[in-house]
Amino acid sequence: MKGINHEIVNLFLFIISTNYLSYLHVNYKSIIIFSVVFYIFTYFITPDVDMKSRPSKRLWVLGWIPRLLLKHRGISHSFIGWTVIFIVGYYFIGFLVFGACIPVYSHLVLDSVF
Ligand SMILES: [Zn+2]
Repeated sequence: MKGINHEIVNLFLFIISTNYLSYLHVNYKSIIIFSVVFYIFTYFITPDVDMKSRPSKRLWVLGWIPRLLLKHRGISHSFIGWTVIFIVGYYFIGFLVFGACIPVYSHLVLDSVF
């Protein structure tokens, strides 16, 4: 799937998830942090940093490091790898890690379907 389509799907997921957090009466400070994490994992740190993609180009010089180290759709597209990272992240930042989980898992699901 093209990068722009991932970003469009994530935009819809962002609207749904932030509205849901509002519905749950999560404080605004947490929603803002959640949004920043969501933004970073939608536009900069995505499974597609392993190739010359929009997120990789946004990272400028840092973008070519994962391109050199990882092959496309290798470990960066691993459900297990990301899950381990998110479990560790949950330990440090709690539910805010879902701001990273949602865009990354949507990417992995869409890549496996399309
Ligand atoms: Zn991908």
